Amino acid sequence: MESVTKKAHAKINLHLDINGVMQNGFHSVINVMQSVSLCDTVTLVRRDDTDITVKCNVAGVPDGRQNLAVRALIAYCETRGISIGADIIIDKQIPMQAGLAGGSADAAAVLLAVNELCSSPLDMSELCKLGGMLGADIPFCIVGGTALAEGKGDILHDFPSMPDCVLVVACGGEGVSTPMAFSMLDEIYNGFVSDVLYTPHSISALKSAMSENDIIATAKSLYNIFEQPILSIRPVASNLRRIMLSSGAVGAMMSGSGPSVFGIFTSEEKAFTACATIKKIGVEPHMCRPIRR
Ligand code: ATP
Repeated sequence: MESVTKKAHAKINLHLDINGVMQNGFHSVINVMQSVSLCDTVTLVRRDDTDITVKCNVAGVPDGRQNLAVRALIAYCETRGISIGADIIIDKQIPMQAGLAGGSADAAAVLLAVNELCSSPLDMSELCKLGGMLGADIPFCIVGGTALAEGKGDILHDFPSMPDCVLVVACGGEGVSTPMAFSMLDEIYNGFVSDVLYTPHSISALKSAMSENDIIATAKSLYNIFEQPILSIRPVASNLRRIMLSSGAVGAMMSGSGPSVFGIFTSEEKAFTACATIKKIGVEPHMCRPIRR
């Protein structure tokens, strides 16, 4: 049976801020995203009929159309006016509801896989456009590497690559819904959506650090507007950040709207120390590296 296997890489956010409100009322973000080697593996096995099934090694991953990977296959077929039945097999390693874009990565992997099965594939920009209709992070997951994202997070610009380093990623508790994360910001900044009250953080220090391939300066320039409010309600995530720094991380930050935290290390030894301490508090750490496009 015809099949294609793709790696679905998690992302971390090196910078995440709000820079205004779009015409539709949603906040527009300014966001530096980085793919990491932590990944799910997604296999698309073509079926003789037109059914679509999902099999996953982890309980709690949604079935049927609830699964973003299934929606991606359906959307691809509808756009192309074709019908393809497939079993989607997901080996899930990316913590769920963690701000690491696991579902978006799986959907991106399915789009890339089904596109490979087609005799007249879509080009990358068409594939990203289709992905963007399904979820804001999907275009980035399709292209991968490092990018500056704006708008909903789906308008991508080139950005210097992250210097090589060792990363430890760990999830600190229950997921935080995006609406809840935004309402916490509203409380803190007293209606921060007004441009008068809120000035976004500059990304120029991060950009220079990454252009100069300087990992220490990169680690010192991380920013996430959601970090402070979310860590205040997720003590495990806050503790993870402390553990990473006291184990020798040169920087540590929450990813997305959390509650996963990543630490940047310049040696595997220090990263192993952090992992050992994280395990002691009952959390599973993931050691990985940034990856390029
Ligand atoms: P993001 O960083 O894009 O906000 P996330 O990493 O916080 O995403 P996901 O792991 O993508 O969160 O899961 C968010 C929700 O998406 C889950 O609650 C789950 O029900 C749903 N979901 C749909 N498809 C998938 C999938 N293939 N893998 C994981 N979750 C999925």
